[in-house]
Amino acid sequence: MKKYPLKLQHLIIGVVALAFILTISSSLWSSYRMNKQTLINNTLETNRVYAEKLATTATNYLDETLQTLTLSSNTIAKKMDNEEILLEEAERLRMQTNTFNSISIVNAKGKVLATSPQTIDIKGKTLTSNAIKKAIKEQRPMISDPYRAMTNREIVYISAPIFNNSGKYLGLVGGTIYLEEQNILHELLGKHYYDDGSYVYVIDSNGKIIYHQDQSLINTVVKDNAGVQKIIASHESGAQRVINSNGQDMLAGYATVDKAGWGVISQRPTEKALEPSENMMKEMLITALPLLLISLLIVIWAALKISKPLQRLAELTESSMEKNEEKNLSAVPAWYYEVKQLKNALIKSLNFLHKQVDYFMDQSTTDPLTRLSNRRTLDVKMDELITSNTSFSIILMDIDHFKLVNDTYGHGIGDEVLQYLALSMKAVTRSTDLCCRYGGEEFIILLPNTTMQGAFEIAEFLRMKLENTSSPTGNAITVSAGIAEFPTTETTSAKLIEIADQCLYEAKNKGRNQVIISRSLNPTV
Ligand code: GH3
Ligand code: MG
Ligand code: MG
Repeated sequence: MKKYPLKLQHLIIGVVALAFILTISSSLWSSYRMNKQTLINNTLETNRVYAEKLATTATNYLDETLQTLTLSSNTIAKKMDNEEILLEEAERLRMQTNTFNSISIVNAKGKVLATSPQTIDIKGKTLTSNAIKKAIKEQRPMISDPYRAMTNREIVYISAPIFNNSGKYLGLVGGTIYLEEQNILHELLGKHYYDDGSYVYVIDSNGKIIYHQDQSLINTVVKDNAGVQKIIASHESGAQRVINSNGQDMLAGYATVDKAGWGVISQRPTEKALEPSENMMKEMLITALPLLLISLLIVIWAALKISKPLQRLAELTESSMEKNEEKNLSAVPAWYYEVKQLKNALIKSLNFLHKQVDYFMDQSTTDPLTRLSNRRTLDVKMDELITSNTSFSIILMDIDHFKLVNDTYGHGIGDEVLQYLALSMKAVTRSTDLCCRYGGEEFIILLPNTTMQGAFEIAEFLRMKLENTSSPTGNAITVSAGIAEFPTTETTSAKLIEIADQCLYEAKNKGRNQVIISRSLNPTV
């Protein structure tokens, strides 16, 4: 059977598998997208809330600090000229609050009256930084922008004014936060970061970093960061996806410490935030895989079940000329409409076809009057036997004076006599022998595996039977016959018939109603 590259079952399985893959991948993809967006939104919101919480903590801390300094300024106001008490107070403030890296008490001209620790060595010096000048000028609690102090440290200066009882401005008491060293901001913010690359940093109102987990970044300006710019511009809390200075995709939440003009930014690498989503996808796939495989097997089974009958019908049409295919066709399970219709149509058309073929085969191989084989069939059969070198004999017969029968009784009775002879021939021969109408009233019997002697006996038997039996004319008919044998007489069919015909001719000559065997081999008979 010829193999076609594509069959219906392949097409069904292909289409269903494609639909499967498309459905699953689109649903996986959309759930992944949704999950991803939810994770991004959640992380942004978490960071915003976290930044806000840290900003509130920082605000509270600054409030407390300013309160402490204001309280202390009341004490200092009374002893402004007592250097020892000022020193003590400075020391107490630094040690007790644990907030400042250093404390200084400065008079209204900016001259340092006392410091803690004393090692910073600015006592007696006049401070000229803009932060100090501004604090003296404005005479109110201040939180400076970061600046490089006389001690060559990057600092933030938090100060409270000192007034005496009559409200005269005496100077200020201030604490510093050393931005580049361990300071209170580390206490407040430093503990709060994950191990996954998340971090918090604080900027001043100019976008300068005043706190960062990575100390080396302190003092750098991050104005180009879109998130930072928003903080500087709007002073509101919020969140957005940003690319940090290392080019890393981050989810940032931000909030401002209004009191100081600071911004707190808490951010987490987007990649880390999305990790659960990727894990979820992997898990979904792993969980769904056995189910998918089972579904696919069911689909394949269903595809085979649907396509099998059609495929079987298609196969059977290829060999539809063979007779027993009708039985095979009946065995095809027709469990749905199309197959049932096709099967019935095929059975009907095959039945019709086979009948037609039988009819034409019969027409081409059988003599219509006597129902004996015709000359063509005889030729084929003889050739077959000669080719397979099977011995056989032929009896060539002719009715004696048949013209007389026709003339006497009419052509119709003549035909009946021919049919009667045909039946008589059939009656004396075996099923393996071939009885054939060779011409008008000439007949041949082909006897496979039979010697000319055997053939002679049969011919004689028939001849005598006819001689003693009434034919349709009411009288007996007689026949004359000649016999030849393959391969002893001749080896070609034409020659065999020719010899048999010579024998027949001789039988006629000798007075008819007799059988003559090929003389050349058996001259005595
Ligand atoms: P012979 O003994 O010499 O054979 O004499 P015969 O009369 O039989 O001579 P011949 O063989 O020449 O005659 C054959 C006749 O058979 C001639 C023809 O009219 C007749 N015949 C041939 N075919 C048919 C047929 O199909 N039906 C009928 N009724 N007659 C046929
Ligand atoms: Mg004749
Ligand atoms: Mg004759």
